[in-house]
Amino acid sequence: MPIYRAPIRDLQFVFHELFYADRILAALPGFDETSADLVDAILEEGAKLFEQEIQPLNQSGDSEGCRFNHGVVTTPNGFREAYLAYTEGGWCSLSADPEYGGQGLPETISFMLEEMLTSANVSFSLYPGLTRGAINAISSHADDELKARYLPKMIEGIWSGTMCLTEAQAGTDLGLVRTKAEPRGDGSYSITGTKIFITGGEQNLTENIIHLVLARLPDAPPGVKGISLFLVPKRRLNENDEPAEPNGVSCGSIEHKMGIRGSSTCVMNFDQAQGFLVGPENRGLACMFTMMNAERLAIGIQGLGLGEVAYQNAAAYARERLQGRAATGIAAPDQNADPLLVHPDIRRMLLTTRAYNEGARALAVWTAINIDLSHRHPDSAKRAEAEDLVALVTPVIKAFFSDYGYETTTLCQQVLGGHGYIQEWGMEQFVRDARIAQIYEGANGIQALDLVRRKLFMHGGRLPARLFQLIADYLEQQQENSNLQPYLQQLGAALNLLQKLTGWLIAEGGSNPDQLGAAATDYLRLFALVTIAWMWVQMIALAQRRQGGDEADFYHSKLQVGRFFMGRLLPQIHSLEMAIRSGSDLMMDMHEADF
Ligand SMILES: Cc1cc2nc3c(=O)[nH]c(=O)nc-3n(C[C@H](O)[C@H](O)[C@H](O)COP(=O)(O)OP(=O)(O)OC[C@H]3O[C@@H](n4cnc5c(N)ncnc54)[C@H](O)[C@@H]3O)c2cc1C
Repeated sequence: MPIYRAPIRDLQFVFHELFYADRILAALPGFDETSADLVDAILEEGAKLFEQEIQPLNQSGDSEGCRFNHGVVTTPNGFREAYLAYTEGGWCSLSADPEYGGQGLPETISFMLEEMLTSANVSFSLYPGLTRGAINAISSHADDELKARYLPKMIEGIWSGTMCLTEAQAGTDLGLVRTKAEPRGDGSYSITGTKIFITGGEQNLTENIIHLVLARLPDAPPGVKGISLFLVPKRRLNENDEPAEPNGVSCGSIEHKMGIRGSSTCVMNFDQAQGFLVGPENRGLACMFTMMNAERLAIGIQGLGLGEVAYQNAAAYARERLQGRAATGIAAPDQNADPLLVHPDIRRMLLTTRAYNEGARALAVWTAINIDLSHRHPDSAKRAEAEDLVALVTPVIKAFFSDYGYETTTLCQQVLGGHGYIQEWGMEQFVRDARIAQIYEGANGIQALDLVRRKLFMHGGRLPARLFQLIADYLEQQQENSNLQPYLQQLGAALNLLQKLTGWLIAEGGSNPDQLGAAATDYLRLFALVTIAWMWVQMIALAQRRQGGDEADFYHSKLQVGRFFMGRLLPQIHSLEMAIRSGSDLMMDMHEADF
């Protein structure tokens, strides 16, 4: 069975040492009790639950999958008990609003736990994950009555939440949604329609399921401007706010899929179900984006979580497995072959995975800190700056982390050779589980378009300008740091390239919109590599300062992995530049009939 040990030391390195996050967060209103000790205690407690109770269900959950019987969905054995342990431990309520029973802790802490939970068991993580997103949307847009009736039980985890957007004809293009909402005359609405691919749409973990459904009011304008958001419980609440009679919501079937088989993916039928409007009429998509943006970051974290657990298993295997001899001479004379780790190509695969993981972890924590700043900083200008940065990197985290997660789980599978292809070792499950993150929550091509078509242009280019300025400021602050010079030069050149390409893309896109679409995916990857390089140079600088002291091995390996990222992975930007500049004609000149 695959192993997993939560990377607590590395999370502490990023949280405490790199960003001094406990101090930043404790200075924000409402977070004054955030201390290094509190964060460490939460990480350790979470790690215990995830490693000991939730990770052992990952492989069995995959082979059993979810079962469907006449509208009833049963999750794999052990999921119910583990979910109970999760809710009773208060893990659902960590960052939720204390007014409704939440613990009011920083989002940054939830982000770090999310990584661990997805490493342990992605399928399981989706049940509380979607609920957290639904809580965010309800908290931000519902009226006080809905909040008071629904939030406390959702925050406790006794009720779950879902996100019901997709219909058979409406995937990426939500303007095509057909589900209807008709006023009942009592302030509520009758919701009728069928949604597909709904994660956790039906399950046996919670006593009620609160669906957030996109639907159209009568006479709503066509397209995305005519969509409203409704809260639709599986069971209606009685006068004591307890779940009572069924509400015309049923599960028609569940999907049989490549991965995340412990997560139920449901066809959901709404037959005159009673729903309540969330946010203004016809502004449903904007309200749903509160949930979708949070989910996009969480989906990116799945790539990181799976990359981490895949790395741990591949590294352990490469240490034990004896095959061939080192090219430079026998490394283990007492054995009849050397461990795989002596081979440069094995090290290439392991270091690629680790360098992405550790760089991505730093970027994830930096982003989470900015989320907390955007919610709580007393200065509105600081809140706006943090909000810009989060908006800019959200598609980058969603798409790049999930792309590299699929790449690196495949590399780690390769380290195991044939054993990587066999179920028993668990590596093929990581690959299968990683694949969906590139598709759902807005396919990665759509994330790339969000970056190049929207985020680069918003507020006259303010978003990328802010990030580029932060990196330029860092380069300037460090210019006297002689040990860091080679890395500063690389980062400076990479930033320069990114800025030049951004300008080029904006200019080209003005005259030919297909240039943006043709360049989008490569540009997003280049953007991610430069941003992660910024994280790595900061980590290298820190490791250089600490390398002579305690934990010399930890800092030494941080330096090695950083060197690998800067020397071996960052240079991809040059081939990406060539691909970006090659333009859209290479795709668009092909006649449709020739495809
Ligand atoms: C396991 C699973 C769980 C899911 N969970 C949920 C859930 O909980 N709730 C929910 O509402 N949905 C859910 N989904 C649906 C998921 O979000 C959609 O599948 C996804 O958004 C893509 O939509 P689609 O499948 O219709 O693909 P399409 O929209 O048909 O897209 C197909 C391809 O075309 C590309 N494309 C589409 N439009 C454009 C364009 N304008 N420009 C360029 N390229 C384009 C896309 O990038 C994609 O690669 C889930 C799906 C799966 C498989």
